[in-house]
Order: sequence, then structure tokens, then C-alpha cells
Amino acid sequence: MRKKIIAGNWKMNINHLEAEKLLEDLVKCDIKDNHEVIVFPPFTSIPAALKVALNSEIRVGAQNISQYENGAYTGEISSDMLLTLGVKDVIVGHSERREIFKEDNEIVRDKAKKALEDGFHVILCLGENQEIRDRSKEEDFVKNQLINSLKNIDIRGKNIILAYEPIWAIGTGKTCSGEDAEKMCFFIRKTIKELYGEDEASLIRILYGGSVKAENISDLMARDNIDGVLVGGASLKSESFKKLINYEV
Ligand code: PEP
Repeated sequence: MRKKIIAGNWKMNINHLEAEKLLEDLVKCDIKDNHEVIVFPPFTSIPAALKVALNSEIRVGAQNISQYENGAYTGEISSDMLLTLGVKDVIVGHSERREIFKEDNEIVRDKAKKALEDGFHVILCLGENQEIRDRSKEEDFVKNQLINSLKNIDIRGKNIILAYEPIWAIGTGKTCSGEDAEKMCFFIRKTIKELYGEDEASLIRILYGGSVKAENISDLMARDNIDGVLVGGASLKSESFKKLINYEV
């Protein structure tokens, strides 16, 4: 049985003092059996978050990772720096990295490859924008993104998690319906089966992200092909994040 994930991406929010407070609240939550909770603070808040989350069931991950080992890459954070802190989870290919920081599939692939080789659990994000959705080309687009973001990487036996995050639903309040999200997650699983076989397709976890909140999480979590959620806005406040952790089954 695939374990469900509730992941909070704090983006460029929550300094280390705020992170400490938020985590102090979150660690008091009872995490459901067969569920994992991961938070992704900005880099400077990671040590404080790790300190509070120590001995709790909540994991602390990073929102980005360099594809390079070390050296003259101003502003970048390496896999070794994260591993040395005790971070084992990373997000790669978030649409904000792709759109704002111009990370193409090749860069995303290099980051995913490096992180997987170094033993991280990698959440790889995929998803189409409004214009592609309006042309009903979301399946072609996401399939192409998936193939090229994983080109020449054999994911079998690796800790990779996929997150379907339609850009038009991120931070907009416009949620993809449970039915539509399930349809896309099913399609992604089918593509994994074509590329890597039945075993990988049945094992891999696929998350949905895009305006997840207390009102829609139960519907999403109940879907056959949705193994969890990646949450932005609703993970920033203890009250709203706790409602997600405590969602009604
Ligand atoms: C995200 O950025 O990964 C996200 C899903 O954001 P939000 O929940 O705010 O739409």
C-alpha cells in the first residue's frame, strides 16, 4: 500500500524564527497511520525547522538543489550541504523554478539525477499552464515533461515521487476538480507503466498540488491515483496546515 504524503512548500516565506514557531505547533499533531508529513522551508529556515522536528514524525526538506557537486556557482546549495544538515527530501522542477528561473527539462533532469544518485527522496513537479489546458493538450504536455525531466534516468528502485501541479491552479484559488486531478494522475501512472513497467507504476507515489485546502483535501486523498498533496498557501499557517494533516478520511 502506497503511503500518503502531505507536503508543505513554504516557498520564500517563513523566516527561521517563524519556522520554529510553526513547527512547534505542527509537531503536536497526530499523524495518521500510513501518512507522511514533510515541510519544505526556505534554506535559511531549515536548521531551525530540523531542530524542532527532531524526534517527531515530520520531515524537513529543501525546495531546490544544485545539479553540481561544488564550486563556483554563486547562490546555489549543494547536495552535500543538505545531506550534512540532515535533509533527505527535495523538490525539483517546481513550476516557479521552471517559469521564473527558466529551469528547462534538461536542468530539472540534471537536478533530479544528482539528487537521486545522492540518495534523496525527490519530488519532481509537472504541470501545464492555462493556455495548454484551454487547448486540451495537458496530457501531451505533461507526458513530454515527464519523459524529458527523467531522460536517461532509471527510476526503478529510486525514491522518486511525482507531483502533478497544474500551473493555473497554483496560488490562484482555482482548484482542479478531484475528478480532473485523478484523471491526470491516472494518466501519469499509465505513462510510468509504459516507460518503466507495471511494478514501478504501482509503487510510485503521485501527488496533486494546486490550491489544496481543508475543503478539498478529503476528496483528493480518496482518489485511487492520488497519493498525497503538495500544498503552498495553506501550509503557511498552523491553523490551515493542521486542518490538512487532520483531514477527514
Ligand atoms: C505549490 O506551489 O506547490 C502550490 C501547490 O501552491 P498553492 O497550494 O498555494 O496553490
